[in-house]
Amino acid sequence: NKQVIFRDYITGFPKETDMVLATGTIRLKVPDGSKAILVKNLYLSCDPYMRSCMTKLDRPNYSPSFTPGSPIRGMGVAKVLDSDHPNFKEGELVWGMIRWEEYSLITTPDNLQFKIEDTDVPLSYYTGLLGFPGLSAYVGFYELCSPKKGENVFISAASGAVGQLVGQFAKITGCYVAGSAGSKEKVDLSKSKFGFDAAFNYKEEHDLDAALKRYFPEGIDIYFENVGGKMLDAVLLNMRDRGRISACGMISQYNLEKHEGVHNMFCLVTKQVRMEGFLVSSYTHLYPKFFDFVMPLIKQGKINYVEDTVEDLVNAPGALIGLFTGRNVGKQVVVVARE
Ligand code: NDP
Repeated sequence: NKQVIFRDYITGFPKETDMVLATGTIRLKVPDGSKAILVKNLYLSCDPYMRSCMTKLDRPNYSPSFTPGSPIRGMGVAKVLDSDHPNFKEGELVWGMIRWEEYSLITTPDNLQFKIEDTDVPLSYYTGLLGFPGLSAYVGFYELCSPKKGENVFISAASGAVGQLVGQFAKITGCYVAGSAGSKEKVDLSKSKFGFDAAFNYKEEHDLDAALKRYFPEGIDIYFENVGGKMLDAVLLNMRDRGRISACGMISQYNLEKHEGVHNMFCLVTKQVRMEGFLVSSYTHLYPKFFDFVMPLIKQGKINYVEDTVEDLVNAPGALIGLFTGRNVGKQVVVVARE
């Protein structure tokens, strides 16, 4: 049983060597009376929050730290091979919290909340478009920001798993949409594939405030925040009165020992802007509503979805750390097995 083991807690940027490949053995049968299930792991999701699990925290975190010497834990898609649990049957497909290994014996399968019933779409979609990134885009945009037709929407990390979907939801709603991304390829993709009205490479802008004024001469009604730091500071200066900021993530801060200060928070007061953070795990009750919204759009070909796929567990550490240098183009997925 090939596994990716978390070596030890880190500070700063994660490295491939913070994870090691190991081979263990596993009995492909669930012990009678154990209430456990045995799964074959198919698709692994690489998500920015996993960086916080690599740190030993002396306070409770929204996601518990990894255990040194144990497999990396993350969201993914798996197939049930054997079950002694009343809620799971052999052959069923599930998505939820799994481990970075080929096969897992799961003694508490409650984290595998989601059964996959619709298999007309690629199974890997349940790590992104039909998984937590999709739900995050939906909740962060629709539930928190109450968008209206004609409003101006700005999205950072525009071409990523969450960003590409927020952009398309905003276009469907009739908004003007601009995004920022870290390369020409991603900027082009945002416009040509995801339908953004405009996009720019933030790495080439020495003055983010001026860049935002170029794309939003009348200001921003809704900011979907994925990166934090200097971008947030510049956005605050460009928000319109009664604007909304959905704080989904702040990836520019995740590897810093000390988070950067934000200077323009007073704009929240003067412009009466509402900024609200959210954890997608608190909104799983909205998953059926989201699914009913998004599935018809997918089937009608109204959503374009880009994944960045690597094959085999051996490439999983590189894929995960690539999120923090922007190596991924679209949703980062690791294929362990296709069936
Ligand atoms: P992405 O697919 O967007 O991948 C991460 C991207 O972040 C990279 O490709 C890179 O794109 C960008 N990035 C990396 N480092 C920096 C940096 N220092 N400054 C600016 N941009 C950077 O990831 P997701 O779509 O999965 O996640 C996007 C955000 O949403 C993250 O902040 C994540 O933590 C958050 N999130 C929050 C959830 C919640 O429950 N609140 C749930 C899911 C995600 P580029 O090349 O364009 O810089």
